[in-house]
Amino acid sequence: MFPASGQARYGDGKRTMTNEIWGTVRQELLKSVGHNNYRNWIEPLEFAHIDDGVALFHVPSLFMGDWVQRNFGDQILSQIGKADDRVNRIEFRVSSVKSPRPAAQKRANAPTRAPQPEGDLPGAALDDRFTFDSFVVGKPNELAHAAARRVAEGGPVTFNPLFLYSGVGLGKTHLMHAIAWELQDRDPGIRVVYLSAEQFMYRFVQALRDKQMMDFKQLFRSVDVLMVDDVQFIAGKDSTQEEFFHTFNALVDQRKQIIISADCAPGEIEGLESRIVSRMQSGLVVDLHPTSYELRLGILQKKVEQFRPQFKGVVLADGVLEFLAHRVTANVRVLEGALMRLFAFGSLVGREMDLALTQECLVDILRQSDRKTTVEEIQRKVSDHYNIRLSDLIGPKRVRTFARPRQVAMYLCKQLTQRSLPEIGRRFGGRDHTTIMHGVKRIEELRGKDSQIAEDLELLRRSLEEQ
Ligand code: ADP
Ligand code: MG
Repeated sequence: MFPASGQARYGDGKRTMTNEIWGTVRQELLKSVGHNNYRNWIEPLEFAHIDDGVALFHVPSLFMGDWVQRNFGDQILSQIGKADDRVNRIEFRVSSVKSPRPAAQKRANAPTRAPQPEGDLPGAALDDRFTFDSFVVGKPNELAHAAARRVAEGGPVTFNPLFLYSGVGLGKTHLMHAIAWELQDRDPGIRVVYLSAEQFMYRFVQALRDKQMMDFKQLFRSVDVLMVDDVQFIAGKDSTQEEFFHTFNALVDQRKQIIISADCAPGEIEGLESRIVSRMQSGLVVDLHPTSYELRLGILQKKVEQFRPQFKGVVLADGVLEFLAHRVTANVRVLEGALMRLFAFGSLVGREMDLALTQECLVDILRQSDRKTTVEEIQRKVSDHYNIRLSDLIGPKRVRTFARPRQVAMYLCKQLTQRSLPEIGRRFGGRDHTTIMHGVKRIEELRGKDSQIAEDLELLRRSLEEQ
């Protein structure tokens, strides 16, 4: 099936995959994925080696590895399988050899410390997309961003640890990497270690097994800055917690900066020892809030700039970004995925991405975010907002103080949920669908004339979407 050419020839499935064979496989992939995809996703892959049935590739970023795995993984595997039948899985890893970053190069006069042997730091690779430059700041994350900036300046430690927490996909890892990049730019000799709590545990277990505990301890105690991501992972894992606690204390005693992230506040992590909890709380604890519409739009605008060079010729129609910011509210990762998909789709269809195409392309993501707002949530928010009881909002009383908020709630249910009028009626104390329709119409009218109502609607809509 493949052209016979010297070493790269294969056909009876018994040859070993080599770089040359990868070259041939790539040519086959070019045929099946098309030029654009090839250039964007296949060409940058660097074949590393095969080990135990796993073909390993180096990729420039985590994101890229994810995307290729999800979208082209099967095709790549099946093509490789034809060349080397021992391969049953492919994996992508961010190449650990970091090319010096431009900012670091410019700092020719930065003080340098004695160079550290490269290989001995126990950290994970940093994603070079995660910098302060690419981080968009808005109300929901401004405090976390300011704290991260402060830590990234280096100098005497003012709060220790910095504890960042939030739901998934809101920028914790991004901020941690940004701090690490910045510290390294300021001082190329600094020993910054970033790793996930899971990797910390893995290293710890490995050290125990190999009887290398002294080395392990020394290594972690010799860093200047330690960052442990997703620390909730070690909750309930007793000996790992214990070791983490000692490492933590030793570094704090030496006035070394520690940065921790988790999916909730220290006190809420179930199974985390109380002495660790109180240590965590002794520094600065900040959370990243769910995104607002403005922040989402800002992030989209920034990402569009980043995607442009990769996807020349893809045009997004006016209003598409606003539509995304409005509808894709889950978290930044999902938002980014949606935009990425739009670009990829746009480069395939070669047409302007208007709203109709956007909706078609993102139908699953949009359906998911639709599910988010429920009639009950709307009722709760509206009654809180107008300071009336839920039972009065839903109940039969027709005084204006209840009737108007009730209509506002009906209107929002119509706008923000997929429920039909009769369904909404049932949830408003069994009212008829014509009553709901009347309420919705009334608010639509008022919205244009009454600025207070317009403002209430906007506030409520936002806070419902931010959940
Ligand atoms: P977390 O660690 O909180 O789960 P990440 O830091 O991995 O989230 O962020 C998920 C994705 O969203 C990343 O690609 C990140 O670059 C992006 N992201 C999150 N917040 C922002 C922001 N404020 N500006 C730009 N990109 C962001
Ligand atoms: Mg993370």
